[in-house]
Amino acid sequence: MDIEGSDWRLGGFTGSAECGIFKNCVAYGDVSSTVDGWEPKVGGFFGESLAAVEAEYCHAAGGVTSASSEYEAGGFVGTYAGGMYSECSFDNEKNPGLNAAGTGELESGITGEAGSLVMANICEDYYGSHQYSTELTVDKQPTCTEDGSQSYHCERCGDKKDSQIIPATGHDWGKPVWEWSEDYSGATVTFTCKNDNTHQEMPQVTVTESVVREATCTTDGEKIISLPQPSTAEPIQTNRK
Ligand SMILES: [Zn+2]
Ligand SMILES: [Zn+2]
Repeated sequence: MDIEGSDWRLGGFTGSAECGIFKNCVAYGDVSSTVDGWEPKVGGFFGESLAAVEAEYCHAAGGVTSASSEYEAGGFVGTYAGGMYSECSFDNEKNPGLNAAGTGELESGITGEAGSLVMANICEDYYGSHQYSTELTVDKQPTCTEDGSQSYHCERCGDKKDSQIIPATGHDWGKPVWEWSEDYSGATVTFTCKNDNTHQEMPQVTVTESVVREATCTTDGEKIISLPQPSTAEPIQTNRK
């Protein structure tokens, strides 16, 4: 849920935390304060935190915006006036430049992390586990020569498990293109891959000749020129004087 407020002490979970133990709690939405005249105390989770507060495994997943140019908002706590924190996180991708606490000396216990990691924390600390899809998702498409991979993704946070290799597909060679030398003494052959036409092979061609009939003064002779490799090549017959 997104929160917008026009009074001070605005937080994604609680505006003012005076005392109490907060465990495994989540503030999902964006927090937006329109207060610009005095200290707005706006944070992703708590607007203000006082000394008797303890928070563990709590996470703020939203973006925090404050209309005040004088007072910094906090990614997690707007104004830190005390309290004990451990294993808490906020999204520092949505809140570039924001500290865990906007004002006040917070020493430790809240870390800014990438959005996907905050969502993974929420899976583990709030839901108790990831929610993996039953279908595999391709993480990397295989190519002709390189293996790809696929895995099961968590539908909430994108965490991946059971990564499997998708074998390289191998080349899919199209029809060979032959080119004879002018006197039929040699030839080249080019194979082009149907998956990627920059994949080409030109295997060595060995031409063999066998004379079927010698030419005489008045009749043509005949010889067969054949191409024993590659194996897909058709032997080619030609008549020469
Ligand atoms: Zn997850
Ligand atoms: Zn290929």
